[in-house]
Amino acid sequence: MRISGGWADGAERKPSPNINSGHRSRECVVVHYTAGYTASSAVNTFATTAGKASAHFVVEVDGKVTQMVNCNDTAWHAGFGVFRGGGQLNARSIGIEIVNPGYHFRSTTGQILNWERKPVPASRLAPFPGMIEARDPWVGSANLLWPLYPEAQLKAVENIIRACLAAYPTISEVVGHRDVDTVRKLKVDPGPAFPMARMRRLLSDRADPADTGGVKLKVDAPTSPLNIRGGPGTNFDKLDRGPLRHGLVVLELEVRGDWIKVRVGDGNSAFEGWCFGDYLKPA
Ligand SMILES: [Zn+2]
Repeated sequence: MRISGGWADGAERKPSPNINSGHRSRECVVVHYTAGYTASSAVNTFATTAGKASAHFVVEVDGKVTQMVNCNDTAWHAGFGVFRGGGQLNARSIGIEIVNPGYHFRSTTGQILNWERKPVPASRLAPFPGMIEARDPWVGSANLLWPLYPEAQLKAVENIIRACLAAYPTISEVVGHRDVDTVRKLKVDPGPAFPMARMRRLLSDRADPADTGGVKLKVDAPTSPLNIRGGPGTNFDKLDRGPLRHGLVVLELEVRGDWIKVRVGDGNSAFEGWCFGDYLKPA
């Protein structure tokens, strides 16, 4: 797949009215699930103004791709998302909606219930190759069942991400909707059944082989050193090996909302922790 003039070849075009013309930057790809069983419900929603949402791409379970927004325009998929500060995530990202119904519950009688706790016939789940069990504190304490993503669909998602990385060299991250909905803590897609690490590896595939791999960031905190913590938030403890001095170069490992996990140093003395992203700039 290749993107030229904002449109991908190999994708069916069905333009959505829910867009803003143009974009501010292209910094990340945001991956979502549709919370539906087929592409048509998402495509139809995004095709009407009443839907008030859109994404650049919708990926069906069999890997068929529909492009609904030109990649040079802004789609409405993560309006409340935060990513390295700066706001307006929609204007800074490409959104991919992947058809997957999201979490289900198992009733006390063994019945599978959807997120609205309505029974789901097994045939609806047939296209998905099994389910994994995992909790998500944003949903509650119940054990949830998450349908796996078919391989044909994942290959299509990889192709889209590769095409985006090639067309927009400024993209430095692939994140899930959950990773950026850190203020509201509402959206849990694409969920633990989605192989995010596999998609994020595409970022390093792209890197210059001469590079040691990964995005390098520089600590930009001239007034006081930057705290490094055990997790992505001020509620996590500061690491004893911090804080980090102004100008120090670190390796980016992961982004969650405004927080970035970094590796400091290399070899046996290296350590990892989380910093507030506003104080890290491209090195
Ligand atoms: Zn989403």
